Amino acid sequence: MTRSPADPACRAWLEVDLAGLTRNAERVADHVAPARLVPMVKADAYGLGAIAVARTLDRLEPYAFGVATPREGAELRRGGIERRIVVFAPSAAAEASELLEAGLDGAALSLDSLRKLAARARAEAGRIAVHLEVDTGMGRAGLPAAAAADWAPEVASVLSGGGVSLASVYTHFHSAGTDAAVTRGQLARLRAAVTRLEAAGVDVPLLHAANSDAAMGDRQYHLDLVRVGIYLYGGRRGTEIAGAPADPEGVARVRARVLEVRDLAPGSTVSYGAMYTTSGAERLATLGIGYADGLAWRLSNRGRALVRGIRVPIRGGVCMDVTSVDVSAVSGVEPSDVVTLLGRDGAEEITLAEVAAAAGTIEYEVLTAIGRRLPRCYAGGPDHAAEGSR
Ligand SMILES: *Cc1c(COP(=O)(O)O)cnc(C)c1O
Repeated sequence: MTRSPADPACRAWLEVDLAGLTRNAERVADHVAPARLVPMVKADAYGLGAIAVARTLDRLEPYAFGVATPREGAELRRGGIERRIVVFAPSAAAEASELLEAGLDGAALSLDSLRKLAARARAEAGRIAVHLEVDTGMGRAGLPAAAAADWAPEVASVLSGGGVSLASVYTHFHSAGTDAAVTRGQLARLRAAVTRLEAAGVDVPLLHAANSDAAMGDRQYHLDLVRVGIYLYGGRRGTEIAGAPADPEGVARVRARVLEVRDLAPGSTVSYGAMYTTSGAERLATLGIGYADGLAWRLSNRGRALVRGIRVPIRGGVCMDVTSVDVSAVSGVEPSDVVTLLGRDGAEEITLAEVAAAAGTIEYEVLTAIGRRLPRCYAGGPDHAAEGSR
């Protein structure tokens, strides 16, 4: 049974502010119009809950939702999402039936995968809408831009053979938030590849490239669609972009209850390896959250928590299920008090950027690491069907 956060026995949970999510998405939509949104909801919407997020953003009428696997797409279908869903990962021929069954679009990241996907779809008497990725510098997948003259006629011939239809051509930027010159170079290589495709007789219905950083950047990156992920979920944009709209609102808040309050004498040791030793008398609160819940072990002796709106340090090692914080400076802390590990409490906020920096990682990983043990609870959404669980 999933416990509701209102239940004092619920030790830790994730709160998702769907109204804030909507405002972030509207900010992107306003900035890129008439380009349309493709909210990326892969990896369970970066850990926040794909169905609740997609239901909320569906009201903005995005072009599609983006996922990474057919299974993620099928889960959205089961959750009642009827909009176009694109699986932005190499679609193996073996996945053709899953794509057809759930009515998902695929991605072709090589000529070979396009051929096999087409053959498999024809064998099943189906037709898969395919998005063709051009590699302009990411180096992990996509038809190489530099060789477009060679593969463009081949793509034309596969498309004319049936089984697949071309929905869009796209590339992926690797430094949109940090290097405008490099990003413009990637865009130019994409356009040159499209010229080759069109010369080979391929109709390119839609073109796209932008991730969050590029979407919040210059107009030239917007093209027809923008694929946005981290910005929707409160991740800070890159620093390169001048004149971009405001930073997003934080929408994820991780909270935990105080399980115990302990008064330790000077020289007491705390947690595995005695990672911390008290210098004076200290009052520590033991919180019901640990690295199994996604609170990075690297936050040991480094991270912060908000207790009654006051910023306090993590002491000692983050353990699997519990973590200690120093509440000597906060009066009246008691078991079952609610503490914030990510997000706002009163005037103070622990941002995604702050947690990522302290844990030596990126904002994306902070969100996707939030453990499945934490119940998700939603506020500000279009319906309350998903509230309190997921
Ligand atoms: C995840 C993903 C994005 C979104 O990137 P953000 O930096 O989170 O905006 C865009 N495009 C593709 C293909 C992706 O896989």
